[in-house]
Amino acid sequence: AKKTKDEILRLAEEKDVEFIRLQFVDILGILKNVAITIEQLPAALDGKIMFDGSSIEGFTRIHESDMYLRPDYDTFVIFPWTTNGGHTARMMCDIYTPDGEPFAGCPRGTLKNVMAEAAEMGFEMFAGPEPEFFLFEKDKAGNPTTKTHDKGGYFDLSPVDLGGDARRDTVLALKDMGFEVEAAHHEVAPGQHEIDFKYTDVLRTADNIATFKFVTKIIAMQHNLHATFMPKPIHAEAGSGMHVNQSLFKEGENAFYDPQGEMGLSKIAYHYIGGLLKHAKATTAVLNPTINSYKRLVPGYEAPVYISWSGQNRSALVRVPSARGNATRVELRNPDPTANPYLALAVMLKAGLDGIKNEIDPGEQTLDNIYDMNYQQRKKRGIVSLPNNIMEAVNYLQKSQLMRETLGEHIFEHLIEAKKIEWSVYKKQVHKWEIDQYLTTY
Ligand code: GLN
Ligand code: MG
Ligand code: MG
Ligand code: MG
Repeated sequence: AKKTKDEILRLAEEKDVEFIRLQFVDILGILKNVAITIEQLPAALDGKIMFDGSSIEGFTRIHESDMYLRPDYDTFVIFPWTTNGGHTARMMCDIYTPDGEPFAGCPRGTLKNVMAEAAEMGFEMFAGPEPEFFLFEKDKAGNPTTKTHDKGGYFDLSPVDLGGDARRDTVLALKDMGFEVEAAHHEVAPGQHEIDFKYTDVLRTADNIATFKFVTKIIAMQHNLHATFMPKPIHAEAGSGMHVNQSLFKEGENAFYDPQGEMGLSKIAYHYIGGLLKHAKATTAVLNPTINSYKRLVPGYEAPVYISWSGQNRSALVRVPSARGNATRVELRNPDPTANPYLALAVMLKAGLDGIKNEIDPGEQTLDNIYDMNYQQRKKRGIVSLPNNIMEAVNYLQKSQLMRETLGEHIFEHLIEAKKIEWSVYKKQVHKWEIDQYLTTY
């Protein structure tokens, strides 16, 4: 159901909304807000609210700094909590230039472009993400630590679990905001949780992921905890991923399902997987965009390391969950929650569409646990690794014409530049591991 301007104005009035957060993400996926008061809402709905783009990472050069926010009416949602008794609402926005053109640095626009390409081929993409995160305690000064005192394990129900309470309240808040939460549970590591959304169209999914992170942090704060989406906060514990279940629909039918096909999958599904695998190296910098992302992509923690697919085993990069019919889907397992949700969905969809266009064969599935194979065994089967670090990933991204096309020149260049700077700062650091390893040995 499409919301109209009048409906939004009426809803805002009825529910005593005082402030509206006009939200968008920058190239790095960080959620930004321009907060307006209820009096400005009519102007905001007409796309008349402006912000200074030059103040935001990866947005603009100084001379193109004025940008306009055009809210997507359907994303109007009132937050369930109040601030001094008043309500706040949010709308996700597209960014436009003063000339009324879609701004090339708007990640939401990037996703819409790839969606339009899919639509031309007759497809609509659906996605269900599984973001994982940690809840940590704060110290006396209120600063986040990496300490957790919960005793919960995977799916455990323990009577005293601060984190469990925060997770439950997060789920309640999300439901209140119209999210369909499919599952929420404790994860493998202490203090680690997961909240899964029911699959929906990709634009909504991206909006939901951005909002989800924001809501989780706020609710954690209300419980005096700190929520983090950094992929690997604790050495030698599982990291936080964000598996993305994805499928294509054509004329209302799941295009990945074919009861006559091998494993109940259509040619389209196989080619989509082929595309995901073929472009895995080039998309990693977008799906795993931080230095810390690569500390997660190591053997032994159910995170993928090698480029392969499988109907079952969780060491593969692409897994095909067993559900069929309209729930037929492929699960890509390397994304983590530091990924910009719009760009992440854009590059996955584009890679899959490329697989379909070029009928890319994904090859044989890998049934064995790849973590247990040695280099020779992997080599014999042609299984190669994902990039080892963000710099390697950026080099693959930079060489990919398909990704340049997907992200558009502006975002492609800015993202690569931002990541190169991050790497150059990081590589100059001397880490504790190096001191422990070398200080006395040499
Ligand atoms: N935490 C694991 C990862 O890093 C996933 C665990 C799971 O959901 N099976 O991807
Ligand atoms: Mg899961
Ligand atoms: Mg999980
Ligand atoms: Mg999963």
